[in-house]
Amino acid sequence: MTKAEENLMAWLRDAHAMEEQAETMLKALAGRTDDYPEIKTLIEKHLGETQRQAKSLQECIQRRGGDTSTLKDVAGKMVAFGQGMSGMFVEDEIIKGAMASYTFEHMEVAAYQVLIAAAEAVGDGRTKAVCEGILQEELAMADDLESHLPGLTGKYLSRLDV
Ligand code: MG
Ligand code: FE
Repeated sequence: MTKAEENLMAWLRDAHAMEEQAETMLKALAGRTDDYPEIKTLIEKHLGETQRQAKSLQECIQRRGGDTSTLKDVAGKMVAFGQGMSGMFVEDEIIKGAMASYTFEHMEVAAYQVLIAAAEAVGDGRTKAVCEGILQEELAMADDLESHLPGLTGKYLSRLDV
């Protein structure tokens, strides 16, 4: 493997761990959004996308000859980050959760931009196409969260005074 190929493999593994962390966060958040059906729908839709993304990444890793038996261990690296986020689930947890998700989507956008360029650099058109597809889902989720944040905040505040 060239250094570029090694980097691509490492970044695919990191992205897989990131998606597993995303799945954990989205599940936790979905369970706290019963009073906010629009956000719940959005979160649950992206949860499904996230699970498919993790699977697509696993397939990319396998296609490139990588070992996927240790993927679960790598996910541990992201735990600290996730715990930091889950610590935000306090009284205004729905607002903090939405902010954290918005931030997380942008981290994902950055990760896939890097992966697309790396896949292109090593001539792996299939991995590049997969990551381009995922990137569009992350951008759409970031966009959806952005458009829901003001309304969500208004609804959260109005519920405090009843
Ligand atoms: Mg994702
Ligand atoms: Fe995402």
